[in-house]
Amino acid sequence: MNRYIMALDQGTTSSRCILFTTEGKIASTSTREFPQLFPQEGWVEHDPMAIWSSQIGAAVEALLKVGGQWPEVCAIGITNQRETTLVWDRKTGAPLGNAIVWQCRRTAAYCDQLRETGYEDMIKQKTGLLLDPYFSATKLRWILENTPGARARAEAGELCFGTVDTWLMYQLSGGKIFATDYSNASRTLLFNIRTLDWDDDLLALFDIPRCMLPEVKPSQGLFGYSDPDILGARIPICGVAGDQQAALFGQCCFEKGMMKNTYGTGGFLLMNTGDTPFLTENGLLTTVAWGAEDKVTYALEGSVFVCGSAVQWLRDGLRILDSASDSAYMASKVPDSGGVFVVPAFTGLGAPWWDPYARGTIVGITRATTKYHIIRAVLESMAYQTADVIDLMQRSTGLSTPRLPVDGGASANDLLLGFQADILQCPIDRPRCIETTAFGAAMLAGLGAGIYENTEQIKRMRAIERTFAPQMNKEERDRRLKAWRRAVERSLAWKEEE
Ligand code: ADP
Repeated sequence: MNRYIMALDQGTTSSRCILFTTEGKIASTSTREFPQLFPQEGWVEHDPMAIWSSQIGAAVEALLKVGGQWPEVCAIGITNQRETTLVWDRKTGAPLGNAIVWQCRRTAAYCDQLRETGYEDMIKQKTGLLLDPYFSATKLRWILENTPGARARAEAGELCFGTVDTWLMYQLSGGKIFATDYSNASRTLLFNIRTLDWDDDLLALFDIPRCMLPEVKPSQGLFGYSDPDILGARIPICGVAGDQQAALFGQCCFEKGMMKNTYGTGGFLLMNTGDTPFLTENGLLTTVAWGAEDKVTYALEGSVFVCGSAVQWLRDGLRILDSASDSAYMASKVPDSGGVFVVPAFTGLGAPWWDPYARGTIVGITRATTKYHIIRAVLESMAYQTADVIDLMQRSTGLSTPRLPVDGGASANDLLLGFQADILQCPIDRPRCIETTAFGAAMLAGLGAGIYENTEQIKRMRAIERTFAPQMNKEERDRRLKAWRRAVERSLAWKEEE
């Protein structure tokens, strides 16, 4: 009989299932998109049943594609969009309303209010996070305040809160599993990342009844079993992690100082900081990477707001590209960007600049500038922004990395990765399996189910497809970085305060 590990990868726009062989190879993949709901400006919601049905649909299809049977699946791993907030009825499993998605800004005014009362430091010390609508606590509070009868029902123990991992496990187990893992809990603003428990001060601050919260467990280990009436077999669920943390695990960044970068719509850099949470003053987030092999590992996280989406802008806004995948070819028509810099500060700039009033800027244009230079400058901007966040992380922690593993849609771009190696002056590794998020979830589940003994065994299953070595000399690199920083200065404080 074949043996598979099933990774459920529940993302913001689609639910994906990847079946891995126990040797860590992809056997099949299935993806189902589901609707994004925008009930008001700045609000983003998902229908919890659409999340569930698309995820179960993808799981069934992935198994059908290999002609497999449910008993051949020996473990399930779950990875998911983080922070998205759901509430449901403990008895029936019926959702109370739509999920409030991480992108939703509806609680921005409440966060401003709390910030003025000076709670931010306490929150940062306990959770490692900033006071921002992004995280779950203010979303959950909003649901309790704005759904008739919800608060009383929550206090009576009739309602459950969960992030997407908890919701999926509840459904898969027919209501038997009500749990989450450290990495997902660490994104709620309610979880103390030092005591590894829900924090009473934070629960009081956000007015959340403890009885509606799931049990928090390490990311690796038995959470419970799927209900055979739902999945067709009693399968152990034994690996759970938020998407970025799962990717860090999937990239085998098991040692302190190792980091990975994901080039997706936005960019996500995570650095393993070992067994102690590392708090910084410069807007980087401190988070739990995972609980595995009987210990807890922490990470620092920095993001680039506009990464691959700048390429979408070239395609859909400027219409100088037919497809994102043409960008490497188009950019290779010129030897360099001809002194042009694009700063894609479309929605302001994050780390290390932190300026919400920055706006996109193109500088260095001459009569010789062509669209190819602009396309090349956009690809280069992805590498410069990544270098800025890495520089901040390395300066904050004193840790450095000898090489950078990468993933995400835009990591298919060879020109980008070559330039990234030049700007960082370190080799860039692109793994053969760029589905690192699902791979990470599958590996956590494999460890949890005892299929693998340790992370050393997982390292041996990860193959590098290509390494990009730096070609540029250091002087040239320094000259370009300096020019990039001058370009960024031109973009700062552009939008006037209203
Ligand atoms: P997400 O998971 O954040 O939705 P993906 O990891 O699927 O995103 O990456 C999609 C992004 O990558 C898009 O913004 C797209 O413009 C960009 N992208 C995809 N392929 C390439 C490429 N070959 N070169 C540059 N950018 C690309």
